[in-house]
Formats: sequence, structure tokens, C-alpha cells
Amino acid sequence: MESSVVAENDTNAPEDDVKERCWDQREALPDEPRCVICGRYGEYICDETDDDICSLECKGILLSRLAKSRQPTGRPCPVKLPATDECYYVRDNDNKSEVKPLTTDQTELMRRKLDILVKGDKTTPPPILSFASCKLPQKLLDNIEVAGYEMPTPVQMQAIPAALARQSLLVSAETGSGKTGSFLIPIVSQCAKVNEEHFPNQQMPLAMVLTPTRELCIQVEDQAKVLGKGLPFKTALVVGGDAMAGQLHRIQQGVSLIVGTPGRLIDLLTKHEIELDTISILVLDEVDCMLQRGFREQVMQIFTALSQPQVLMFSATIPKEVEKMASTMAKKVTVISVGKPNKPNQAVKQLAIWVDSKRKKQKLFDILMSKQHYKPPVIVFVGSRLGADLLSEAITVSTGLKALSIHGEKSMKDRREIVRSFLVGEIPVVVATGVLGRGIDLLTVRQVIVFDMPNSIKEYVHQVGRASRMGEEGTAIVFVNEENKKLFPELVEALKTSGAAIPRELANSSISCAIQDFERLASESIDAFAES
Ligand code: AMP
Repeated sequence: MESSVVAENDTNAPEDDVKERCWDQREALPDEPRCVICGRYGEYICDETDDDICSLECKGILLSRLAKSRQPTGRPCPVKLPATDECYYVRDNDNKSEVKPLTTDQTELMRRKLDILVKGDKTTPPPILSFASCKLPQKLLDNIEVAGYEMPTPVQMQAIPAALARQSLLVSAETGSGKTGSFLIPIVSQCAKVNEEHFPNQQMPLAMVLTPTRELCIQVEDQAKVLGKGLPFKTALVVGGDAMAGQLHRIQQGVSLIVGTPGRLIDLLTKHEIELDTISILVLDEVDCMLQRGFREQVMQIFTALSQPQVLMFSATIPKEVEKMASTMAKKVTVISVGKPNKPNQAVKQLAIWVDSKRKKQKLFDILMSKQHYKPPVIVFVGSRLGADLLSEAITVSTGLKALSIHGEKSMKDRREIVRSFLVGEIPVVVATGVLGRGIDLLTVRQVIVFDMPNSIKEYVHQVGRASRMGEEGTAIVFVNEENKKLFPELVEALKTSGAAIPRELANSSISCAIQDFERLASESIDAFAES
């Protein structure tokens, strides 16, 4: 561990001794190198691997993982499955027994056990049980291990082989279930192989990931970098808030993956000549949001500039109309759903509280000051940018807790800094609009307070999902009152499926809504009957 990097704002400071323990190291600032094991400030470079590393402790972990992954397993015995070129099954122990592809019945059984439903293409490969059972480049397998992914999550088990088989997919799975890896692993694999063979000197854009928010783009790009490290695989981030010239320059230098928000991408495409003909994989993350009015036209404009790519679409919530629209983007779309999508993450305990609008602020302060209920770091979701600013100030004044707001009007630099200080524990409470609602991996967050109920139940599902990653338990407190009436039936359903209590007022109100609906329908049919 000879090389060391000193923080940008600290260039004259003397170099410290090499850090022994990971915890002695500080968190990384947004543009600083990160330790490939723990994500803290990657102050040193591990001589053996050239990876950024924070301390001797993480260096030890990195080297022992690498040593393990290089040991011969004595078990590869590939058998190609008929439908795909890219996956094979390996035997777990010796070479004596014969290895056969799974039969249709075995595949069905496996899917049932994993709670996976597949609709559409009958040739969709069976789920994989390990990353090693796909023909991924060895370096990518190493990177997957370094990222700490020991085995695929259920959505990865099915989506990765299907994506590698070049199928277009519409995938729904709970928030925090590993969807990002499901598309990035096939992308890194395909790009690295194509670049090695066809573009050894200058990379061409081969894949594009579109997401609705800049934060999510940053997170996807970060994860792509971890998975693509050491491979011929460069990425470009194309989002508003950062200078366009730098983004354009990066693409012109040669990248394989472009990650961006639709608005900025269109800006870039209309103002500059960028060749997108080579893109053969398009990912729409949070697809339900991407195909809603406002985004849909932009997404379609980008889609038509590409030459019929494989389309991979992901979200926790996929309404029927999105399913219909998705099918227009590719000839054949395989629909994969895992677990109980369209429902709040089962690891999050929901608590619905009936509270009048005028009393919501005081209720929030009570929660934040209660030893029993306050579980920092906390995200409070509100409906408007102004509301976020005002509420964060009011929290600080009334409770003494440091609170900041985050929303689309803040500069990219401010948003990055707020997310950073929230994640390292400098700020215990963030008041956010929808920008933090989707996809963002806020690893440390275990509590979400839905202060203003969003306009749709699927947005609510996404917000609740922020309180848990990879099945860890979290809590979501939601304030409801008469103003959210139109969502009552779906909210009651969402609370019921998670075993949460339904406040009396909500139960009564949703019964009276149902009666009103029934009466309306009855009178409409009487009218229709009378007219006929
Ligand atoms: P996502 O649903 O893609 O936002 O992922 C949620 C979290 O799970 C992220 O912190 C990922 O780094 C992590 N993750 C993704 N796949 C795996 C895996 N196979 N094993 C362990 N962690 C994973």
C-alpha cells in the first residue's frame, strides 16, 4: 500500500500513518475515490490489485477474497441450455454425476419456490443459483464478489439469464431487492466482451440507462463503475446540474454506458451530434414513472433515435397500462415479477396515523422528540418544494434536530452534499419531495415518515420502500386524513397485506366511500335501464 491520495481540500496536510482499521477512516466526499470493500475514503491504493482501499483491514479482506476466487473450484462442467448462449449450470461437488439442463417442470418448481412469475417468452432461461453459472468475464465475477454479493437475489436469478439471452424484459420486484444489479451485470458483461472483440481502441456507446432523477443516475453509475472496474467498460453520466461540456467531452472520449435523465439527454442530442446507433441495450429504470405523461414523450424521442435495442424495464410498481405501453417498445416482451410487487416492501412495518392537516406538524415534532418512535436517520416525505423548505426549518426550530430539505430546485452540488451528510450521520432528518422517493439506496435509513400522502399509491409504495434495503427491517409512519380520500381503498389494501393496523377513521371512511361508489353505480344503471 504505497500510494496515497490526499483529499482535494487538504493538499498541504501531512500524510497520516496508514490506517489500521476501516472505522478509523473518514467517509468519502462525492468525487473522491472510495474503498472497494467498505465505500469509505479510498486513501490508499492496494499495490497487488490497483484498487482504492481505506485501510489495512480492508486490504486484508480484499486480498483474501481474491485469493479465494482464484482457487480452482474443480467443478466447472458446462452444459449449454438450449435457449441461451450465455448461461450454463455447474455441478456443486464432484464430476461423477451427469449434469443436465433443468426440465420444464424443474424450472417451474424452482420459480414457484423463489416466488418468480414469468409471462411471455417460453424460451426464457431458468433462474440461476450462482453468478458463476453465467458466462460472465472472470473480472466481473471478482468485482461482484468485491461488491459483497455472495449470491444472486431472486430478481437477479431470473432477470440476469433472461437479459443475457437478449430478451426484452419488464421486471417488477420489491424496492431494495437488487434490481440495479439485474441490469448492470448483463450490461457490463456484454459491453466488456464486445469492446474486447470489436472496439479495443475506442469504446462506443453500447448501453443506455434512463432514470427519472439525477440522484438515481449517480447511484446507478457508481454501481456500474464498481462492477466494471478493470474491464474495458467506461461510463458517462448525463444529468442536469453538471456542466454539459464535460459530459459531452466524456462521451466523445469513448464510453460504453450512458446513464442519464431523459431531459438532459435530449438537450445533449439536439445540440450536439452524438452517434447512438451502436446502442443495443436500453434500460428504463422506474419504468412506471418514465412512461408517465411528461417523461413519456422524452423517452420515446430517445427510443426512436436508437436502432431497435433490447429494452429492459424495471420497477417495484407496474400498472397494467405501463405493461401495454411497454409491449409497444419491443417485438416480444418477457414479463417477470418477483415476490409481491405493487405492494409495500414486506420488511417495512407501516403505521398509519389519522391526523388532521392542521395538526400534522405538531404530530411530526412529537414523533421526532419521542424516544420510543424517533429512529434516525429519518426521511420525511412532503408534497411540495416550498413545503420541504418550510418544514425542515420548522423541525430545527421546534425540536433542535438538524434538518435539511432536498428537492429538484436545489443545485446538484447541494443535493449531493445533503445526501452525503445525511448518510454519514451529520444530519439526522431530511425533508424530501419525490426526488428521494425512487430507487435511491439510502443504506442507513430505517425510518420514513410520509407527512403528505403522495398522489398515487405506487408513489407511496416507493417512499415506504426507502426504509429497507435487502430485507432489513424498517418502519414507515404515514399521516392520513380526509384529504387523501381517493386513495383510501388502495391504502387500506396496502396496509392490510402488510398486516398493519387500519385506523378506525380510515376504515369507516373507506366503507362509506365504497357505499357511495355502489350507490352511484346503482343509480347509473337504473338511469340506463330507464332510458332503454
Ligand atoms: P437495489 O434494489 O438495486 O437498489 O439494491 C439494493 C441494495 O442491495 C444495494 O445496496 C445493492 O448494492 C445491494 N445488492 C444488490 N444485489 C445484491 C446481492 N446479490 N447480494 C447482496 N447485496 C446486493
